[in-house]
Amino acid sequence: MVRPSPLDIYTLVDKSNCKECGYDTCMAFATDLLERKIHLEDCTHLMKDQKQKKNYLKLKELITPPQKPVQIGVGPRKVIIGGEEVLMRHQLTFYNQTGIFIEIADTQEDIISIIKYLTDLKIERMGEKLTLDGIALRCVSKEGEKFMEAAKTIVNNTDLPIMLCCLDPEILIKAAEEIKDKKPALYAATKKNWELLGQFSIQNNLPLVVTSNNLDELISLSTTLDKLGVDQIILDPGTFFGQGKIGFNYDNIVQLRTAGIEKNIYSAGWPIMGVPAAYWAQIRKIKKKEDLWKHKYQEVIMGSIMISIDTSLIILHTGKNKDDIWALLALMTLRQSIFSDPRIYPSVEPGLYEIGNPDQMSTVLVTSNYRLTKIPVEIDVKGANIDSWLLVVDSEGIGIESAVAGGQFSASAIGEAVKEYNVFEKLNHRILIIPGMAARLSGALEDEADCYVLVGPRDSSGIKKFIDEMWTPEKYMKEYKNR
Ligand code: SF4
Repeated sequence: MVRPSPLDIYTLVDKSNCKECGYDTCMAFATDLLERKIHLEDCTHLMKDQKQKKNYLKLKELITPPQKPVQIGVGPRKVIIGGEEVLMRHQLTFYNQTGIFIEIADTQEDIISIIKYLTDLKIERMGEKLTLDGIALRCVSKEGEKFMEAAKTIVNNTDLPIMLCCLDPEILIKAAEEIKDKKPALYAATKKNWELLGQFSIQNNLPLVVTSNNLDELISLSTTLDKLGVDQIILDPGTFFGQGKIGFNYDNIVQLRTAGIEKNIYSAGWPIMGVPAAYWAQIRKIKKKEDLWKHKYQEVIMGSIMISIDTSLIILHTGKNKDDIWALLALMTLRQSIFSDPRIYPSVEPGLYEIGNPDQMSTVLVTSNYRLTKIPVEIDVKGANIDSWLLVVDSEGIGIESAVAGGQFSASAIGEAVKEYNVFEKLNHRILIIPGMAARLSGALEDEADCYVLVGPRDSSGIKKFIDEMWTPEKYMKEYKNR
């Protein structure tokens, strides 16, 4: 697929530069529309002017990615899956990270406490809050009433999106009827029930998963549902465990992504899901309880493979107990790395930060605004219970070593930051501690910022020891005055 350019979009908007969308020009609007920072509907002219309806539809088609996005849930925690334009992240970026859903059986006893745990689960890592995306309710009871009650319990106790999983369409529809205003995803249409579920999905505007372990059949079902009028489809090619099955699952997902994104085959251009939780239904018996962790590893390995190839959504079994936080930590960390935008250096706001309660004689640690430098420094200093100032210099989001070599983290850049954030006005000393990797800047910086420079450790894990042994400001200030 050839990506449209801002000019392609510009030619179809009003070009009046009326500013009603908040942009000064229609071209600026077109550029941000392409980057998905705004919606087509934000152009007031396109919406209110009937004559522009044709252009609106053309634009809509133009900006719809080959893998169409699907929304599950409503409100602030709704999740959008799929919607990708490229097979590999480095070709552009991925826009929507893999949604991680945790499955709960409708027979689960402590269901409310699990729902609350999953809803509140938050892992802070590198300045981001990592959370789960939804709950998949599995029909184990095979009883319509029980499944429906469990679905109601979930939506009454969480704002996380929900996927209703039941292969009996009557039970599935009965539960979905009750919670349809929460926009649950329906799992799953098969060759036996596609028509009934397809109609229900259309009538209620709900996303529908279609499943088959045969890719030809899966695409044929997707085509049929599309012809019926279903416009929110999720593809599930099945997840299998055992000899040779990792490769099988991997191939299926990659083939579907390639067909949808690269070959532009409409019926394959939908989000793709995997179910690592299927492991537990496929193993015969867990022989020894003490081997349970080995089984959990199997599931987590499958989950990580799926995340690494941009599977749009995965369902896990492991992770609903606090003891299994390791599994989510591993998968969410992987997801965070894969779905960061390769076009943007991960940066934080430059400035003078307070760690603890620094005073006029506290240390001033200088670092770059590369996120993966600033945050570990902050964590290490906080962890060591040190009250300190942290001067974060604008290095264009580049890490210390590269930014020193490239000139972004220089004596003049640090000097400017010292002035901009009035560092010495907050202190009774003029001492800066720079990272060991920037040692060669110390002489120039002393001249530039009229200060005394101490060269700190190369790694922030050594800051505590360094400060304990070296922080004698009176001594350094005497040396500074005698210079
Ligand atoms: S509202 Fe539409 S016509 Fe007006 S400036 Fe924005 S994009 Fe252009």
